[in-house]
Amino acid sequence: MNKVVVLGSGTGIPSLRRASPSLLLSSENVRLIIDSGPGALRRMLKVGITYRDIDLLLYTHLHPDHTADFVPILFASKYGDHPREKELTCLGGPGFRFFVEKLQDLYGSWIRPQTYHLTIKEISSNPFLWGHMKILSAPMAHLAGSVGYRFEWQDKKSLVISGDTDYCESIVTLAQGTDLLILECSFPDEKKVEGHLTPSLAGRIAKESQCKRLLLTHLYPICDQYDILGQCRKTFQGDIIVAEDLMEIEL
Ligand SMILES: [Zn+2]
Ligand SMILES: [Zn+2]
Repeated sequence: MNKVVVLGSGTGIPSLRRASPSLLLSSENVRLIIDSGPGALRRMLKVGITYRDIDLLLYTHLHPDHTADFVPILFASKYGDHPREKELTCLGGPGFRFFVEKLQDLYGSWIRPQTYHLTIKEISSNPFLWGHMKILSAPMAHLAGSVGYRFEWQDKKSLVISGDTDYCESIVTLAQGTDLLILECSFPDEKKVEGHLTPSLAGRIAKESQCKRLLLTHLYPICDQYDILGQCRKTFQGDIIVAEDLMEIEL
C-alpha cells in the first residue's frame, strides 16, 4: 500500500496551522520525503519518522521554504548516540548538485557523512528507478531548475506532485490520468501571483489532466480567509481535497 502524509501544507510564511512544505510518501517499506521546509525534521516525529528512516529525499526546487531542513537532516544524521546507518539518496532538479556542494563548502565536516553513504543526484530525461517505483520528472513554471515528479507503480497506480508552479502544459502532461495529483495552491483567485497557482487554475490543470483526485497544498495564510474548495470547483468537478497538516491519503 502507498500512503502520502502531508507534513506541511503551508509555505515560507510562518503559520501555526500550516507547517512549511514537506510530504512523506510511504510505499511498502520505503520512505520518501518530498521537500523539507523549515521544521520538517521535527514534523516527521509526529508520524514516527526520524532522520534515520528516510530512504530517498527529493526536492522540487531550491527555495528555502522547500529545502531549509536539508542541512539539519544531514547534521542530525551524525549524532553520536544514534547516527544514521542506512544509505541516503537525495535527488533534485538541475542545479541541485551545485547547491549541495556549496552547502558542503560552508558546513564542511559538520554535515559530511561518516556512518552512512550519501548519494546526490540530479534528475535526467530518463526515469529514475527506485525499487518497485518509477520516478519521472518535468520542468515546472516557477524558477530555473524547478521540477514536478510523477511516481508510477507496477500496478499502474500513480502520484504526481507539482512543487511550486504556475499553469503550464508541462504539469498537465506529467499529471495525465494520475490517481492523485498534488498541486500547489498558493493564493486565492483574487490574489494571483506569477509563478504560483490559484484554486481555479489548479482545477483547470486537474480537469485537463483528467486526474482522479486533486489535493491542494502550499497554502499561504491568506487562503484560509477564502473558499478555496469553492473556487476550485468552478473549474474541476472531481474529487478535491484541501490539505491540512498531518492529513493521510491512501493510494
Ligand atoms: Zn514554496
Ligand atoms: Zn518556490
